[in-house]
Amino acid sequence: MPDTSDMLLKTNLKRLRLPTISAEFQALAREAATANEGYERYLLRLTELEVAARQSNTLRARIKQAGFPVHKDFDTYDFSAMPKLNKPKILELARGEWIEKKFNCVLSGEPGTGKTHLAIAIGLAMCREGKRVRFFTAANLVTRLEEAQKQYQLDRLLTQLDKTDLLIVDELGYLSFSRGGAELLFQVFADRYERASLLVTSNLPFSEWNQVFQGERMTAALLDRLTHRCHVFQMNGESYRFRESMATGTKRAAKKKG
Ligand code: ADP
Ligand code: MG
Repeated sequence: MPDTSDMLLKTNLKRLRLPTISAEFQALAREAATANEGYERYLLRLTELEVAARQSNTLRARIKQAGFPVHKDFDTYDFSAMPKLNKPKILELARGEWIEKKFNCVLSGEPGTGKTHLAIAIGLAMCREGKRVRFFTAANLVTRLEEAQKQYQLDRLLTQLDKTDLLIVDELGYLSFSRGGAELLFQVFADRYERASLLVTSNLPFSEWNQVFQGERMTAALLDRLTHRCHVFQMNGESYRFRESMATGTKRAAKKKG
């Protein structure tokens, strides 16, 4: 093809927003000519590349939008360190049916047992399933809600949260909130009831959630909604972090000795 046609084609592809085809058509055309490939086959391969690039861009955007604090996945989670945890059930969550059914999930247990790690891994899996996910620490979410309220933007934020298929609220219980903050968080939780999924991690057993939500009545009402149709995982055991540092410490000590 003469250069001018290539340039015209590139202009058209740009207008049609097909950047991958634009970048690849010449190389693929050479390959197709060498392999004596038909026109349809060539067009198919080009469109496949464009579709694949679009899918991966969408996924990247979805993961970015979710706002995970770090990247953690199942492949780096050592289930043998948490033998009482139901691994098949956790991996089942990664398939996402519970999101379709608007179920919730609570990961509860001591610090360092991998609650945040698994919450992120589940969130990432849901992004790959095409779901809209948002990740917040409880403290962060309450701050965002309070700020939005001050700036008369609360409805806007609530609508945004409403659009997510999975809202992850990490570290509920480390900090208690003001009455107003607790009420806002309660509103978010209650709004999602049977409409969209929540994943909450907490170091507190349910019996102590009234420390966060101030008042038995609000806590009871909230737990009633949250735990109806909910997968609860108890993550008890030694802190993985602690165990790892002990292990390296022991190795270091052994090295010194030997
Ligand atoms: P939690 O949220 O329960 O306090 P984290 O998920 O933050 O615990 O875990 C603390 C650190 O230990 C993280 O770096 C996490 O990736 C790691 N970790 C915890 N449990 C495991 C595990 N079973 N396998 C691999 N890494 C783990
Ligand atoms: Mg955590």
